[in-house]
Amino acid sequence: MQILPNSSEPLKEVRVEDDRTGLSIETLKRAFADNLFYIQGKFPEIASRNDFYMALAYTVRDRLLRRWLNTAETYTRNASRTVAYMSAEFLMGPQLGNNLINLGIYDQVNQAMKELGLDLEELLEEEEEPGLGNGGLGRLAACYLDSLATLEIPSLGYGIRYEFGIFEQDIKDGWQVEITDKWLSAGNPWELPRPEWSVEVKLGGHTEMRADEHGHFKVYWLPDKIVKGIPYDTPILGYKTNTANTLRLWKAEAVESFDFYAFDSGDYLGAVHQKTVSENISKVLYPNDNSAQGKELRLAQQIFFVSCSLKDMTRIMAGQNVPLEQFADKFVIQLNDTHPSVAIPELMRLLIDEHNMTWDQAWGITKKTFAYTNHTLLPEALERWPISLFGRMLPRHLEIIYEINNRFLDEVRMKFPDDVDRLRRMSLIDESGERYVRMAFLACVGSYSINGVAALHTELLQKDVLHDFYEMYPEKFNNKTNGITPRRFMVLSNPRLCKLLHSKIGDEWVKNLYELRKLEGFVDDPEFRHQWRQMKQEIKQDVVDYIKSTTGINVNVNSMFDIQAKRFHEYKRQHLNVLHIITLYNRIKANPNIEITPRTFLFGGKAAPGYYMAKLIIKLINSVGDIVNRDPDVRDRLKVVFLKDFSVKFAQKIYPAAELSEQISTAGKEASGTGNMKFALNGAITIGTLDGANVEILEEVGAENFFLCGLTTEEVYALKAKGYKPWEYYKKDPELKLAIDRIASGFFSHGDPNLFKPLVDHLLGNDQYMLMADYRSYIDTQDEVSQAYRDIDRWTRMSILNVARMGKFSSDRSIRDYCEDFWKIQPVKIDLKQYVEATAILH
Ligand SMILES: *Cc1c(COP(=O)(O)O)cnc(C)c1O
Repeated sequence: MQILPNSSEPLKEVRVEDDRTGLSIETLKRAFADNLFYIQGKFPEIASRNDFYMALAYTVRDRLLRRWLNTAETYTRNASRTVAYMSAEFLMGPQLGNNLINLGIYDQVNQAMKELGLDLEELLEEEEEPGLGNGGLGRLAACYLDSLATLEIPSLGYGIRYEFGIFEQDIKDGWQVEITDKWLSAGNPWELPRPEWSVEVKLGGHTEMRADEHGHFKVYWLPDKIVKGIPYDTPILGYKTNTANTLRLWKAEAVESFDFYAFDSGDYLGAVHQKTVSENISKVLYPNDNSAQGKELRLAQQIFFVSCSLKDMTRIMAGQNVPLEQFADKFVIQLNDTHPSVAIPELMRLLIDEHNMTWDQAWGITKKTFAYTNHTLLPEALERWPISLFGRMLPRHLEIIYEINNRFLDEVRMKFPDDVDRLRRMSLIDESGERYVRMAFLACVGSYSINGVAALHTELLQKDVLHDFYEMYPEKFNNKTNGITPRRFMVLSNPRLCKLLHSKIGDEWVKNLYELRKLEGFVDDPEFRHQWRQMKQEIKQDVVDYIKSTTGINVNVNSMFDIQAKRFHEYKRQHLNVLHIITLYNRIKANPNIEITPRTFLFGGKAAPGYYMAKLIIKLINSVGDIVNRDPDVRDRLKVVFLKDFSVKFAQKIYPAAELSEQISTAGKEASGTGNMKFALNGAITIGTLDGANVEILEEVGAENFFLCGLTTEEVYALKAKGYKPWEYYKKDPELKLAIDRIASGFFSHGDPNLFKPLVDHLLGNDQYMLMADYRSYIDTQDEVSQAYRDIDRWTRMSILNVARMGKFSSDRSIRDYCEDFWKIQPVKIDLKQYVEATAILH
């Protein structure tokens, strides 16, 4: 280890004072050594890999801070209009590598580490990622923060600093096992706590109407609990800009330290218990994807972060001397799904109860401030809260919601007279049984914009889930097709592809993804196609090595890498993929010498801990793998590998290696998908249904470069309407029958027919997600895929054209659309001053 060429050398003589945060290799090395000594308190001989990681992280953070403070100073001075992106989830992924890319110092740091005898790759691996999200929704928020900063848009991300993020997944005997995610245990060098900006949030209790000192009647909320929110800030740097925006996550704490109560009442342990109860609010992320849970603590999380964030925004306005009347001019609040939609009554409450505005004034501001993104068409994922629970925790908010509802229903009556059923359907309160608050409806009424996340999804919202609201407020509806950041999901994760692109079309595409179109000019160049294949082969080899070292399974690098990596959910239909594997296996068993295109089936993804069927599908994959991978008849032509603990870190490894991307949700169920985009951008070809953004991917890459299968949404609806009988498909299709029978017989479960019985019963019973109906189309399309893969030039051509035509799916395009369409916000250039000179301010 050579942290210092000569460790007796006095540091201060070497340091160049004016270059404290410089980017030269020498300065980086010096700063790294400083941080190892003065922050980690270690010398190289006793430093752990984590110490080296931390020293490097702080070195990079110092370089971010300069940009961050310049940015904050500029926004404050200009009182810039700002996007507040409110989201219960931010699935950020590791920060170090991304910050190196966005600062443009990856190569320098790599070199600096090398000169110190360290391996940057190893240090990058060391980082625990903040898994503060479940899947697509949380990852979208993270991609949007990257694009907002890259496009120089003033913005703040607001969310929750969960102490435990999404659980770590282990596989034991083929079953998923959940392990607590202790992501903070080694420290988090990227965040800065800001206790001086703490705020208090009220919960529970009751309200009273009283005259204030001027004789005006006012509502007072007397809570039975107060919790403190402490903001933790993480800088979000744009790609090669000076803009560094903020992700502000709230941690819950007790208002008073417990010794205060102890002196007061003598109930020492009771006070300690109270402290624990308060801190529970930000303790753990709910691990459900696409399903609402209705748990009290979850509602507490929602009001907690939303209330903290709104108060933070009023603090910012006060600091910039912007009057509260201008709230909607200063901020646009984007609601990432309904999780933060309680912000609507909370802002009303703040403006009326705490800032003495009239209802009309407050409502005028509120409905110009919020914009709502819907993320799902699944009925079980639409949030609704039992009135009893809601009223107990948020009595004042419930009153406000009732008042919003009264006025809203008057409006509906005016526009649609004598339509009682419509009033019942649209009411913010569901009164069909136990009474509920319908959060999506609240978001629709309180927002000036309502958007879906892919063209088809927005169309279905208008036609179906939110049809009444579309008729009421057609002008509010718009589409914003999701996107992904090419910085993380290309530049950082796929250096080999980037190098090849660089040699042909330069680097403009990193900021303008449509530039990838220039690749089309090389698609018929045999030399280029050869390089393309070579590149893919190298990436696949890395994954082969990784699989070997983590699972012991030998994978043939020349087999087709067929990957399905995403949350486990029945609508995503990982089990349809399994039926294909079993079908191929059955063909081999029937005829061991059959010609078959060798494939490796890779799966990754977590199931919600309480979602039994999803966990059973994971078990099925592993059980099928156990049989197929070992059967000598298969002769290694098929391999099934379940890669545990799918995360952003892991996603970055796996997307680049894919050749076939499985996007086979039941049409009308996947709102957009973003995994589909990451795969295609890295040169995989999609086999997919006409669902979510698949529709637009097909449109962009061309039908000849996409394997389309399955029913359309209309066909799904029509089939359901006429009476769907899954059993008939099973009876009529011998391959389908054999595949199902193999599972049902216990062939994959050591002869136990009961293990997978619930799954089989479900498929042959009501088959909600219509696997039986789509099976034949899927299998036939997979046969075409196998055929196409054998024509190596055709496949390479398709792969290149997929990459070339993915320009639309940059999150930069999405964010530009939001800005121009309804955020109405302009970029703000940040000049990089030498640095914010504390001494200049203090002199
Ligand atoms: C992109 C991504 C997702 C979303 O995948 P879909 O295929 O769109 O469901 C989920 N998890 C992680 C870690 C991701 O990176």
